[in-house]
Amino acid sequence: MNKEKSKKVEIEYCPQCGAPNKEDSLFCENCGHDIRKEKQPPLFNQRVGIIFGFLGVICIVLFLSS
Ligand SMILES: [Zn+2]
Repeated sequence: MNKEKSKKVEIEYCPQCGAPNKEDSLFCENCGHDIRKEKQPPLFNQRVGIIFGFLGVICIVLFLSS
């Protein structure tokens, strides 16, 4: 009775063939496409953008204060 929604299973659709896969799957169960890789770049780019933005601000501050 207590089994409802205790663990949420997210469905991730393969960008290659559109087959539904579990979110924690590394590869598409249908075509073997690497699902994980598709998800990482946006987050990575976002973090790099934040880091570079932060470094840019520091550089400007250092440049202005010198
Ligand atoms: Zn697939």
